Amino acid sequence: MNTIVLDEPFKFRFTQTEEPDQPGPGEALVQVRRLGICGTDYHAFRGRQPFFNYPRILGHELGVEVIALGSESRELHVGDRCAVEPYMNCGHCIACRAGKTNCCASLKVLGVHVDGGMRERILVPIHKLHRSSILSLDQLALIETLGIGAHAVDRASIQKGENVLVIGAGPIGLTVVQFASAAGARVIVMDVNENRLAFCRSNLQVSDTLNPTDDSVKVLEELCNGDLPTAVFDATGNPESMHGAFKFAASGGRLIFVGLFLGDVTFYDPDFHRKELSLLATRNSTARDFERIIGLMEAGVVDTTPWITHRAHFNDMANRFSSWLDPEAGVIKAVVECGAE
Ligand SMILES: [Zn+2]
Ligand SMILES: [Zn+2]
Repeated sequence: MNTIVLDEPFKFRFTQTEEPDQPGPGEALVQVRRLGICGTDYHAFRGRQPFFNYPRILGHELGVEVIALGSESRELHVGDRCAVEPYMNCGHCIACRAGKTNCCASLKVLGVHVDGGMRERILVPIHKLHRSSILSLDQLALIETLGIGAHAVDRASIQKGENVLVIGAGPIGLTVVQFASAAGARVIVMDVNENRLAFCRSNLQVSDTLNPTDDSVKVLEELCNGDLPTAVFDATGNPESMHGAFKFAASGGRLIFVGLFLGDVTFYDPDFHRKELSLLATRNSTARDFERIIGLMEAGVVDTTPWITHRAHFNDMANRFSSWLDPEAGVIKAVVECGAE
């Protein structure tokens, strides 16, 4: 079957691989119909993904169709369209036992640590498939990305009416904006890129955006009636931004690191203590997040229509991929169509 392998940085290879085995008990064989491309894939392509092994079949944002089931399932049938929760957890470590499958101690992510969906068919555990008879394949392929924001907002227990600052309006930051708004928060977005801020204003109903300057604390206080935001999300993965984010949170507030980078984040402890801040990391998402997102998308609360800015067919993806890396291309989300409709 047709497969795209990333042999080494900057080198995709279009090739043929073996068909998967017939599904065993608890497994489903699925046809990959849509692939979303994200920062993780770009980093892998550029050789900037830490702990990444080559060759690897990428693809962790998947809209699929069930073609065979290895065992009876009450929820799932052949022909169902699903999103794939690509986080393969062990099921018995302390995190898994606590239901925190997203941060399993030996987590394997499809398309990152193990081969993913840049091929025609894959085997997936039935319990990692989340079906919807309403959502389109495009929407299903976006659910994994949306999960990052949904889980981050859930981690921070965002309340209705609270002032929330989201730093970094890339695709991941946008997912945070989306779910913080859905939780009823008043969202302010900060980014160095004016185009991204404009996107938030025109497509995500964000009325207050700002560029980071020396006056940012004052500007935020003006926007929040003299207070600072009670929750600050940093989705930049940029150490200076993460370091600076501590000063934007209100006393008693929380700071949530959504983006990550390979290194140390430092902060001035007296400020951290004076405000009694809560610092939270957030990672991936859970089955519960997937179900919640599907519900919100089906109800039209979360609309991702403006997000997909670039498309390619599977056969043409390798040629188009590097152009999506160009900041001038203005890619928010690129999706790959697989097979015939
Ligand atoms: Zn992704
Ligand atoms: Zn585990």
